[in-house]
Amino acid sequence: PEDCRVYEFAEKVGHSTGEVIKILFGLGKMVTKNDFLEKDEIEILADEFGVEVETINPLDELDYVAAYDAIPDEYLEERPPVITIMGHVDHGKTSLLDKIRETKVAEREAGGITQHVGAYQVEKDGKKITFIDTPGHEAFTEMRARGAQATDIVIIVVAADDGVKPQTIEALNHAKAAEVPMVIAINKIDKPDANPDMVKSQLAELGYMPVDWGGEYEFVEVSAKTGQGIDDLLETILLQAEIMELKANPKRNAKAVVIESSLEKGRGPVATVIVKNGTLHVGDHVICGRTFGRVRTILNDLGKQIKELGPSDPGVVVGLNEVPDAGEIMVAMDSDKQVRELAQKRAEYLRQKELSKSTKVTLDELGNLI
Ligand code: GDP
Ligand code: MG
Repeated sequence: PEDCRVYEFAEKVGHSTGEVIKILFGLGKMVTKNDFLEKDEIEILADEFGVEVETINPLDELDYVAAYDAIPDEYLEERPPVITIMGHVDHGKTSLLDKIRETKVAEREAGGITQHVGAYQVEKDGKKITFIDTPGHEAFTEMRARGAQATDIVIIVVAADDGVKPQTIEALNHAKAAEVPMVIAINKIDKPDANPDMVKSQLAELGYMPVDWGGEYEFVEVSAKTGQGIDDLLETILLQAEIMELKANPKRNAKAVVIESSLEKGRGPVATVIVKNGTLHVGDHVICGRTFGRVRTILNDLGKQIKELGPSDPGVVVGLNEVPDAGEIMVAMDSDKQVRELAQKRAEYLRQKELSKSTKVTLDELGNLI
């Protein structure tokens, strides 16, 4: 990476800091162990030590930057699973989200739930689950294309009276391609013409064999209308999450993924994010794709102002200079200076790229950074 300090380089190549400094000194460069190395210096040093290095463009620096303050694994803690519901139109995605929210959020926090935040969290047996409540397909595909996947588990909804449809298959394919585990919710089980066995055999035929038929796919029968099976569905999700051992380090700088964004009157650019790692605080300096700023306000999924978002928490962030795109990664850095430097590098990089290719840089390219 370009932003590599002398001692970090030394550690990476397994030589002492002294040796590195000596070589640079031989080249007429006076450096101390904390100085950043230039790209050409890194190449010379790599040559000298006979190691291969890969210098990456500034758009790729995010993980590296976020790793600055990475704290050892002992700080890793369990984090809630993040869920996206997908399925054919009218099979009950929205109803299911609403029902889960209604039954579970009400349990957690009495009072008005009005604001649409694009994602919300519920609690089941003292464990949190985050749901992405945003037009399923697009968000999911976009983010996958950008490698910024927000989702840990996909719920595929299939109406028990309608069975597998084209968008069901599409959803299955998306989840499979993204290697995201799925749970199948057979919905509308309350309907007189509901036929869950039909759904099961259709999916079994496609290679998604139910667990109770000796396969590996969890099927849960639910009704978004009556609420039947919802607890079962949440338990199944938590079980799957447990198997996945989802972990994060709440002590490091935040890395979050944007799932929705807009320009709001009086607020300016706002971004709904889900934190992937670390903790995002009010006051943090953040960069997000081409945009950057300082976190001025954070709202939780109930529209309430809060001070921070931990791993897998959803929230709305106010304070960016422009509206970022969905799928982009927001990273908190130690200082405004760092943020501005990286923002400048990115802008420059994109400009160069546009010049050199004389084609527009696609968002995918910009997003392909993590
Ligand atoms: P989406 O397009 O997948 O988001 O589907 P919706 O949630 O909008 O539901 C489509 C229609 O199916 C609506 O009229 C819902 O009221 C109805 N619906 C959804 N879930 C159920 C259910 O469990 N039982 C019954 N009877 N109707 C349902
Ligand atoms: Mg819907």
